[in-house]
Amino acid sequence: MSMVLELTQELVRRPSVTPNDEGCQAFIAAYLEPFGFNVEWFNRGCVTNILLSHGDPMSGPTVLMLGHTDVVPVGDESAWSHPPFAAQIHDGLLYGRGTADMKGGVAAMVIALRRLVEEYPDHPGCLQLLLTSDEEGPATDGTCVVADVFKEQGRIPEFCLVGEPTSNKVLGDMVRVGRRGSINARLIIEGEQGHTAFGHLVENPAHKIAEFLSVVTRLRWDEGDEFFPATSLQVSALQAGGIATNVTPARAEARFNLRNGPVSPQADLRQRIESILTDLHITDYQLDWNVSAEPFYTPQGELTVAIEESVLSILGYSPEMNTGGGTSDGRFIAPLGTEVAELGLLNHSIHKVNEHAAVADLDLLMAVYFDILRRLLKP
Ligand SMILES: [Zn+2]
Repeated sequence: MSMVLELTQELVRRPSVTPNDEGCQAFIAAYLEPFGFNVEWFNRGCVTNILLSHGDPMSGPTVLMLGHTDVVPVGDESAWSHPPFAAQIHDGLLYGRGTADMKGGVAAMVIALRRLVEEYPDHPGCLQLLLTSDEEGPATDGTCVVADVFKEQGRIPEFCLVGEPTSNKVLGDMVRVGRRGSINARLIIEGEQGHTAFGHLVENPAHKIAEFLSVVTRLRWDEGDEFFPATSLQVSALQAGGIATNVTPARAEARFNLRNGPVSPQADLRQRIESILTDLHITDYQLDWNVSAEPFYTPQGELTVAIEESVLSILGYSPEMNTGGGTSDGRFIAPLGTEVAELGLLNHSIHKVNEHAAVADLDLLMAVYFDILRRLLKP
């Protein structure tokens, strides 16, 4: 039986919903320690963070493999065709929460690392695996904690390979070389409760928020650039009134999320939203602005070249490089000056009911990871 499959199943059977790790990282540490990996823990609060290292950073490049052991909640458990933490296989697919995002990728990284140090025990450089249990959550006590330690101690990896599920139609067809930023905003417009029959006397905040939303949801914020799609805005919640059919609401609230590229920095977007409010004569409002991720882009270098060559030699085609999808913890490593790229399993079922990964892809991904490590370290 495939080692990658076995390890993936072991991890999926641990219901590690953020921030709980359910012993996933300790299991991986116990697995890699006999192969000479050094273990460092960086736990904070309920979040578990582990760094496993092998080799000497003075003798060559440091290659950091980055992943997470936490998963999103299962949602409606009765809607799953296979129990979400049973890791059952059906028709060549492994079912379970976290199979694709990203315990399958973590298992592939672990086995690739094991294989590399077994075949090349005296490899130059340093191999690292960093895992957190706070990627799917607020991400405030996870990878960023270790990134700060790297910065303070001057331990800057040359390369960071993130194992998030980036593949679109077939394994390895898509590699991320950056990510869009993500901003969560909450707008509250205050008005005055009144009688619907005397609308001319009241300032109805529901009407104002509707006007505002009709502008911002149709606006073209930018055209994107060579690497980033155009900035987008989506409303995630909308609330006003509901007391009685003849009462106008005293306040209206909308929550929205913006996904931006570097052409539209968050400060510019905020300013543009504030001037739209001014243009609409909306003055009595509160705007909460929460930047959950800044966009990042890492120029192509040795890592992206190694990924391209490995995918081509093992899978037989060239991957597309882009910056789509959600954010990832690569955003904490990129500012260190590290070349960051992401490659992992197919992402079409992630966060959904019946999340799954193709069993055959697990070993293929491991082989690609192994080949990338070999190209970077040149043992
Ligand atoms: Zn993930």
